[in-house]
Amino acid sequence: MSNNILTSRMLQTARFNLEMAAAKLKLGKTSLIRLIEPKEKIELTLHPKLSTTKYPGIKAYVVRHSDTLGPAKGGIRMSPGVTLQDVEGLAMEMTWKTSLIEVPFGGGKSGVCCDPAALSADDKEIIIRSYTRGAVRHIGPEIYVPAPDMGTNEADMGHIRDCLAYSAGKSITSGCYVTGKPVLLGGIVGRREATGKGVIYCLMRACERLGMKFSQAAIAVQGFGNVGSVAAQFAAEMGAKIIAVSDISGGTMNRSGLDIGKVCEHIRKTGKLAGFAGGRDITNAELIAADCDILIPAATQSQITEANCAEIKAKIIAEGANGPTEPKADDILEQKNIFVIPDILCNAGGVFVSYLEYTQETQREQMTIEEVNERLNRRMCKKFDEVYEYSKTNKMTMRQAAMCIAVSRVVAATDARGALP
Ligand code: NAD
Repeated sequence: MSNNILTSRMLQTARFNLEMAAAKLKLGKTSLIRLIEPKEKIELTLHPKLSTTKYPGIKAYVVRHSDTLGPAKGGIRMSPGVTLQDVEGLAMEMTWKTSLIEVPFGGGKSGVCCDPAALSADDKEIIIRSYTRGAVRHIGPEIYVPAPDMGTNEADMGHIRDCLAYSAGKSITSGCYVTGKPVLLGGIVGRREATGKGVIYCLMRACERLGMKFSQAAIAVQGFGNVGSVAAQFAAEMGAKIIAVSDISGGTMNRSGLDIGKVCEHIRKTGKLAGFAGGRDITNAELIAADCDILIPAATQSQITEANCAEIKAKIIAEGANGPTEPKADDILEQKNIFVIPDILCNAGGVFVSYLEYTQETQREQMTIEEVNERLNRRMCKKFDEVYEYSKTNKMTMRQAAMCIAVSRVVAATDARGALP
């Protein structure tokens, strides 16, 4: 096992959760060592020619944590503070997520260390192309298939596909190298909305099982990017009241319910949430402590900590983000009887629809939005039920149950494959 000092809270959380599941499953040390270390981690230094000289050498990372169940799958995070250890933790989470949601993939992740908000569209495209060229040997339908994550989007995935096809001297790539692409370039309808929608499908199932009325719930959403904005919009369409939302600039609250269409319009015009006229300005700390039924952390990791979780009033936490809750906070939430739908279940809708995109592209088919949403809803409910039943039978939290199911599938597949060289 590596002796590197763990500076990343994301990696600390991921390892803690693995060790917790390993203890519950009584896994031997050899199995644990195989699961803890990623199969491959790559650090790149990119030197793209940008219109600004702000980024002379950009660090980028690719981690393939596991390919036991299939090619590594996981998004590309573009953020100024992302570290190799963060990417390692996020890649490990992907292994459990793909295993739990039962798609034939392993876990991987990429990180590109720069601030997308500070880049022109042209500079961002150049950086994405530079990342693609640097990572070209590590990306492929049977190796690692990236997708969008924080700071990257559909357009970026289109550039990756173009860059890979161009490098091969072809008009298209043969097979699926990247998911979350524009529909015109082989993407699938509904992928952009899939993570946020999946969070709400999962939540509606949870409310059904817990005897709560989703349509009467007051919801607070932290993070108003791809996942948070879609989750807020879809929850409002399903009749729930969104009382607070936030982004990195701050948040807004209206106890009578925010008009999410107007929030989106305000962001389109101003580029940030702060200053929205239809609510009162709040901080992210106030959002976490909001008096609501459901809290959806959909921003980034380590937002619910030992320091702030005593303030939480929500009855359900639905983890749209990856790793938003730290282990010590988890214990306190359990004592407070707050029902946590863990990230590897709650936000798995994105990777599930990525799997549909992968199969669609491989088979040169086209699915309709109705088919995609119906399959997404069915899979999220089925997996919610499976984790819920396991947690009841084994007297575990939802996170413990989800981790045990996910880890035991990977262990069983490792055993089935036998000793690899
Ligand atoms: P995004 O870049 O589209 O949006 C991120 C949002 O979070 C922005 O509104 C940003 O301002 C806000 N934010 C960032 N740091 C914050 C902070 N400290 N406090 C408050 N707000 C903050 O990213 P996204 O794709 O929506 O991803 C959000 C989370 O969901 C990440 O943890 C990501 O790993 C996870 N996730 C994303 C997908 C996907 O399909 N995009 C799938 C699964 C999980």
